[in-house]
Amino acid sequence: MEINNVTFAYIKEKSQINNISAKVEKGKITTIIGPNGSGKSTFINIMSRNLNPLDGNILLDGKEIQTYSAREFARKLAVVHQQNEAPQDMTVEKLIAFGRVPHKRMFQSQRVEDEEAIDWAITCTNLQSKRKMTLNQLSGGERQRVWIAMSLAQKTPSLFLDEPTTYLDMYHQMEILELIKRLNKEHGMTIVMVLHDLNQAIRYSDHLIVLKDGQKMMEGEPAEIINSKSVRDIYGVKADVKNDEESGLYIVPIGI
Ligand code: ADP
Ligand code: MG
Repeated sequence: MEINNVTFAYIKEKSQINNISAKVEKGKITTIIGPNGSGKSTFINIMSRNLNPLDGNILLDGKEIQTYSAREFARKLAVVHQQNEAPQDMTVEKLIAFGRVPHKRMFQSQRVEDEEAIDWAITCTNLQSKRKMTLNQLSGGERQRVWIAMSLAQKTPSLFLDEPTTYLDMYHQMEILELIKRLNKEHGMTIVMVLHDLNQAIRYSDHLIVLKDGQKMMEGEPAEIINSKSVRDIYGVKADVKNDEESGLYIVPIGI
């Protein structure tokens, strides 16, 4: 995906995304980081066509994203939003089945390939024992896995996720990140995500895009761009940068 000089504003006076160009490489994990309100969600919403840029364009497989039909686009790219809502009495497998909508004609009943995609999504996210349960019977981590499963049932080469680990405890955060890594490594999915936690971003990403005040501040491999100075510039925090064999590069905030 190629993002060319994209600008966006919710209201006329002030733009939330300011002339951003970037590249998302196929088969890689790209993570957008930056302080609260820097435009991460807005940017991922523009890339996934939920918001239209005011200026500039985005190419996916060489074609401007706005020129795809909704159905074509939904077969290429699936999104897990930060906040998701569904009727709480809906079952897990029913919700996941919605991921098949872009592959079906109106009123078409479930075919073998739909069932296979749903089963695959359920297995990937380890929800076999929950498939007949309703959403209100699930924990936060399980619910997040259901939303990811719905996107997986869409069977797209690209998966976009906005803060998929927020509100989860440490174990369930890792569970989601390891799942994302597996989808990338074993199934070659292109991943674009927003992460709040810089150490998780460093650890799980091939490429980082750093936003601040709606501008792209820097971009590159984590080890190339993360150091005490850049952490200070991005977050305004004093931090030590450590590196050891087992955990790799990580930062320890020490003050403001
Ligand atoms: P992030 O995800 O990095 O926290 P957002 O993309 O949500 O940032 O927000 C970027 C800026 O756009 C913020 O200043 C926010 O207040 C503003 N903003 C976000 N959504 C809307 C909206 N629907 N209408 C007006 N302004 C918005
Ligand atoms: Mg956000």
